[in-house]
Amino acid sequence: MSKRKFDRPVLIAEDAGDDYPSSVRVWCPFCVAYHYHGKCNKEGIIDKRLEGHRVAHCHNPDSPFHNGGYYIILPKSAKNAAFKERSRI
Ligand SMILES: [Zn+2]
Repeated sequence: MSKRKFDRPVLIAEDAGDDYPSSVRVWCPFCVAYHYHGKCNKEGIIDKRLEGHRVAHCHNPDSPFHNGGYYIILPKSAKNAAFKERSRI
């Protein structure tokens, strides 16, 4: 993800906790709720492609995420992106 440009909003995913061990969650400001996304492939193994584009699970009909979804990234990638951005200044 190092030099990738995002054409959709980016949400930072976090582990969904023990109740949803095969999922991550992102906070949606339009639903004021978490959206859950699977992190495992069909064999139950954590998918290396966890980060990427997702279809929005918004229950708010006015959410702009319905128009093209969003990207989810892990905190580590977000930190790296922020560091690179600061380094350019
Ligand atoms: Zn939403």
